[in-house]
Amino acid sequence: MRKISLEQRIIESVVELLRISETRLPIDIIESLKKAYNEETETLAKTQLKAILDNIKYASEKNIPICQDTGLITFYVKLGDEFPIRSKLNSLLIEAVKRATEEVPLRPNAVNPWTGKNSGDNTGEYIPYIHYELVPGDSLEISVMPKGGGSSYVAKLYSIPPAEKVKGLKKAVINAVYDAGPKPCPPIIVGVGVGGTEDLAMILAKKALLRPINIRNEDENIAKLEEELLGLLNSLEIGAMGFGGKTTVLGVNIEWAHRHPATFLVGIAIGCWAMRRGTLIIHKDGSAEIISHGVKI
Ligand code: SF4
Repeated sequence: MRKISLEQRIIESVVELLRISETRLPIDIIESLKKAYNEETETLAKTQLKAILDNIKYASEKNIPICQDTGLITFYVKLGDEFPIRSKLNSLLIEAVKRATEEVPLRPNAVNPWTGKNSGDNTGEYIPYIHYELVPGDSLEISVMPKGGGSSYVAKLYSIPPAEKVKGLKKAVINAVYDAGPKPCPPIIVGVGVGGTEDLAMILAKKALLRPINIRNEDENIAKLEEELLGLLNSLEIGAMGFGGKTTVLGVNIEWAHRHPATFLVGIAIGCWAMRRGTLIIHKDGSAEIISHGVKI
């Protein structure tokens, strides 16, 4: 390992995390897309799935982004209380995003909502958006989710009558996916955040997309609901890129929080087939690994 400061090590590791996350999909999503391709019988949908799988292969071989929309960037940070760098982390992550924009390269996607002016480097007011969680230990875990506009465009927050509970929840999820149609480039992954407050329901919905789609919720009843929703959503037959067929949705992940007795909020975040995510661990001696993709850096 080169002798550099821990600050520089964080910047370089996060640039690498962004490069890998933008150019290689996590294995659970690739496997699920292959399964969808093998099982598809509709010609047009199968052609789309083949194009998607070829796209993934070429991006990884040539080290280029999987999609032209390299997304708006969100970080989820677990900061160990003995990790030596704390208040400087924000500026280090922002610096890493600027460098990744130049070096990967990433399409600049951060636009002023009022003037439409693009900042040119994927940073701006609150962007990249950074969630912090304080945890025991001396390491730093950084997950990244660069999310494309097509999938974020169809995010929804529903406030359903509390008496309807799971029945209302199912209706809301089916509605959201039906309304989204082909816009988020299916097959999609659906993140559902249940309960909490209006902001927390959406945070949980998006965080649910960080969980690999082959891992069910640890609560047995919620795991069953995830499976049931997957079946219901695939019966919509929107299919790959909207061309019909067996696979509209690759996975449904639910996270939840306690709610106010008078509310039952359901946040829905949708990830497109190019559902990019990656997780990096940095130890205080500077050693680092991108655990989501099994890469030591
Ligand atoms: S929705 Fe996803 S796959 Fe479609 S253009 Fe946007 S980032 Fe790319």
